[in-house]
Amino acid sequence: MMNSCTLGACRRMKSVFTSKFNPTTGKVEWVMHDESYDYNQEIARSAYADMLHDTERNKKYEAGLQAAIKSMRAQGRPCNVLDIGTGTGLLSMMAVRNGADSVHACEEFDPAAKCAAKVIAANGMADKIVLIKKRSTAVSVPDDMPHKANILVTEVFDTELIGEGALSTFRHALEHLLEPNSIVVPSAARMYIQPVDSSFLSSFNRLTLSMPETIEPIRLPPGIEKYIYPPLFDLQLSSLPQHLFDVLALPQIVFRFDFCGREKLPLESHTQIEFKVDRDGVCHAFFMWWDLDMDMRGDVQLSCAPHWEHPLPFDKIQWRDHWMQAIFYPSFSLPVVQDARYVLDAKHDEYSLDFDISTLNSPVIGSSSGLLPCAYTRSRLAMLGNVSTISKYSSTLHRLVDDSTVVLCVSECSFLPYLLARLGAKKVYTQECDFVGAANLAKSVISYNDLSDKIYLYGEEELSVEAMSQVTLVVGEPYFCRSFLPWNDLRFWYTRSRLSQSVDVFPISAHLVGMAVQFDNLHKIRQPVKECEGFDLNLYDSMIERSREKSDDRLEQHSLWEYPCKALGPLKTILEFDFKQTCHEADHVISHTGIFPIECKGEWNGVALWMIYNLDGENSVSFGVEGDCKVGSYPSWNMERKQAVYLPIKSSTVKPSDGIQFDADYHVADADLRVTFSVS
Ligand code: SAH
Repeated sequence: MMNSCTLGACRRMKSVFTSKFNPTTGKVEWVMHDESYDYNQEIARSAYADMLHDTERNKKYEAGLQAAIKSMRAQGRPCNVLDIGTGTGLLSMMAVRNGADSVHACEEFDPAAKCAAKVIAANGMADKIVLIKKRSTAVSVPDDMPHKANILVTEVFDTELIGEGALSTFRHALEHLLEPNSIVVPSAARMYIQPVDSSFLSSFNRLTLSMPETIEPIRLPPGIEKYIYPPLFDLQLSSLPQHLFDVLALPQIVFRFDFCGREKLPLESHTQIEFKVDRDGVCHAFFMWWDLDMDMRGDVQLSCAPHWEHPLPFDKIQWRDHWMQAIFYPSFSLPVVQDARYVLDAKHDEYSLDFDISTLNSPVIGSSSGLLPCAYTRSRLAMLGNVSTISKYSSTLHRLVDDSTVVLCVSECSFLPYLLARLGAKKVYTQECDFVGAANLAKSVISYNDLSDKIYLYGEEELSVEAMSQVTLVVGEPYFCRSFLPWNDLRFWYTRSRLSQSVDVFPISAHLVGMAVQFDNLHKIRQPVKECEGFDLNLYDSMIERSREKSDDRLEQHSLWEYPCKALGPLKTILEFDFKQTCHEADHVISHTGIFPIECKGEWNGVALWMIYNLDGENSVSFGVEGDCKVGSYPSWNMERKQAVYLPIKSSTVKPSDGIQFDADYHVADADLRVTFSVS
């Protein structure tokens, strides 16, 4: 495509090229779109709906604004409000409704600023709110605002609180855009850390290559065993099953941020906090969350704590996805003893946070380890440490492998080449993914375990025809690090098809299955807002809907163990893939229409989709529901792979005898699944 049309020519044709990874071929391709493509992708992915459904957040922001306006009035001062990061205009409209004398709303994300202008006009406030389409740090008085404001309202926080640059946003506003003694909503934040013992969470952070007990272990070269995954990720902590962790101590306040200038807001700081451990264990990880004071006195607080530390009872806690909790890892797992005291070391800079633990009087040994290649995601690390899954592969594979077997292993960052070598295969050909470092890591593991004569790692180039002709068995988990949706791993089938139909293949087939579900909460992130705190947001909904129709994001990926849902009926196969057959034609489309039967009453608000691989006709692995899935109950989900989810715009009340009809087309050439769902 690039050869037939230069970028300049395409601009004149009002088209843009974007690079797109093709999961089937594993190659990056250029794809032409109309010029609104990027805009639509950005809008469709923006998570404003989730925020706008967060009623607690909305109400507490309004309570903070009301208190601020009341206090200004009591001081006989006017109320000049600045709203930084106005998004859809919500907080500015609240300021107008509560009697502000002037409101300036600033927004740096152009699509949101355009949307805010329309929403504000639709709510009859166009003459009351001045929109400034800039990042606040580029705003100046009197160029953009005639005078400084004396009330700042802003919601520029992410799950890590400061990851969106909140500290410099506040600093700049306090210095350049606000009068002295201004009121800021929120006025302060506290950040909490709770140390935990959890081998489960530990497995998401470090590389281990587990082998079943009967098989000689694979040793990691000394440097690599200390490598870690980037030491942070976000999680819906309240969904983490309680048996997978033990908290070791009370939550500790590590940072207090004063947003209204009573104390200077540091762009970086370092603190050490001594604390007592309540039980014996190992400190594998830290849970982190924060809370906000919405008014100056701290009477109105908003907490992001997980349920066991939350000030509100369980059934009163607001569900939200735009702020979760975060997991951080210490530089190494430290064994701890009940009632002993330890030191929590906490650092932040303008955007990021770092936490560590040490014994009293012994300094923190800074992280001496490097980072794993980015192909090794946290879920990949968990899988490579999961002996029970690996044992399942091992017990079926050992029947297929002897000292005459030449294997083509089609998976990335996988345990399979090592397992196959240990099972006695004559030769294993395997290709590593193209991320920097993954191939080097594999090479060093191969050589450290003296497997260089068994495992042949081939690179960017295709395997030679001669080598191909020797292959007697094709094996895959399958897993590819750039797969996004579950069926993207069908690259295995495409690669397998370069070999003759007569070679043995493992797994022998796959099913893409699905199930109609009722989510407790996840569906809200895509549902129209319509009205928010009395404001009409229909224009925002229609903008999102238009963008979603044009974007690629109808099916999304989520770790469903974090988002509880009830099965409304049994799982059903949507598409079946027979790996014993080859899939040569590039334009091959596999289609199937069917119905997910509904077997209990409920609200249909989602479909979960995942792959089940049939290893050898008897054993299978499911990357979705694990174990029995009773209709009307909450299934348990594979925690190492994400599932695909379809969220309809509207929920529907369903009953037994209803069904959800699906119409699916799978395009082999680019692993694109087009599927529609409707109540029948
Ligand atoms: N205030 C809205 C939206 C909050 S989302 C509400 O409460 O519903 C945060 C918004 O702030 C995003 O739209 C982001 O683009 C914007 N933003 C973040 N930092 C900003 C800054 N320093 N200046 C201008 N906009 C900013």
